[in-house]
Amino acid sequence: MTFEQQLQIETHLYLQKSFIGLKLLSLGLLLLLLINRPWYLYGEIPLTNMFMSMAPLIISLLLTTNMTHKLLSSYVNPLYFSFLFLGFSWLLFTSLLLLYSTTFVVAAISITDMLVLAFGISLFPSRVMFFTTISILSVYHLIIDVMYVSSDIWFSIIRLLCFVMIIFAGHSVMRRWFKRAIQKDVDKHNLIQELENLSIKDGLTQISNRRHFDDVINKEIANSERTKQPLAIILIDIDFFKKLNDSLGHQEGDKCLISFANMLKKIVNRPRDLCARYGGEEFILLLAETDLAGAIKVAENVKQQLEQLEILHPDSIVSNKVTVSQGIAVFQSGMSVDQLCHLADEKLYQVKRTCRNHFAY
Ligand code: GH3
Ligand code: MG
Ligand code: MG
Repeated sequence: MTFEQQLQIETHLYLQKSFIGLKLLSLGLLLLLLINRPWYLYGEIPLTNMFMSMAPLIISLLLTTNMTHKLLSSYVNPLYFSFLFLGFSWLLFTSLLLLYSTTFVVAAISITDMLVLAFGISLFPSRVMFFTTISILSVYHLIIDVMYVSSDIWFSIIRLLCFVMIIFAGHSVMRRWFKRAIQKDVDKHNLIQELENLSIKDGLTQISNRRHFDDVINKEIANSERTKQPLAIILIDIDFFKKLNDSLGHQEGDKCLISFANMLKKIVNRPRDLCARYGGEEFILLLAETDLAGAIKVAENVKQQLEQLEILHPDSIVSNKVTVSQGIAVFQSGMSVDQLCHLADEKLYQVKRTCRNHFAY
């Protein structure tokens, strides 16, 4: 998980929640306006005009992100559209009421102040949306102020600039805090993943370790027991590996283990298959949904591909290259993990006792 990806996800989640908050605030504000000063009752603003002005606002309050997603997802970000629509609906509402009656000016200014704060808090994770909405609302605020309240344009401008600067300072603090929280989350997530990887991987060969194999085989056996799907394992032991270490050195021995593990990784490539280091020079393949015929094919494949790898083994008694012996066991209903592994072990030692460089089942 990268920081940028997580930032995008968290921003989206935050905007989704903050949009709901903004809608609730708008609803509250609207109700308060209607209850507090019923202009329409005094005849200052006719009731029909009042409701006509409210129409876009009501639509934007009823609009869900799902609806905008269906309508607009190919043109614009539906969530951003919802914010802009809500903002413009408020501007339209206050502008129309101002046109009908100048007594609305105090309410209009208070609403704009509240919208600047509410939109600022709601949109701070998205820099573009934050700057766009705050700029539009601030200019709108300035226009009302100059037109209806203050005759001193410079005072209005300076007051607005101070207000905007406070909002922007708050924005940068919140954004820094937001990014830091996400960075911590990403670090924690990556660290946990790294630890999980370390706990299930073998340090030398980078394939699964015995612990991981034990975990997976338990689940696979339970699954086979339930679904009656076949399940096979192949226990693989490198022939005369001690001799290879003795003749070529431990480093060459390690290299051999790594090459062999890489080869196994390529052979078992079905999603539920697993190859693991079972012990020192012993490996195990877990083949889900695989019967005896399938397991034999895999064992033959291991033998052939190892031959092609041509890892030299000057002291081997069966060949001049590294070879392996393999024991195949197929799960039968009622078997435990130990019984299945024991069966594979028996088959492996049958090969060890007789010929090596082969497999038994
Ligand atoms: P056999 O054909 O009967 O399997 O004989 P073998 O020599 O392969 O088996 P044995 O069990 O006698 O010896 C296994 C050797 O594997 C002993 C040990 O030194 C070596 N070994 C185990 N782990 C590692 C490792 O991580 N790196 C290296 N280089 N050698 C290892
Ligand atoms: Mg061994
Ligand atoms: Mg061995």
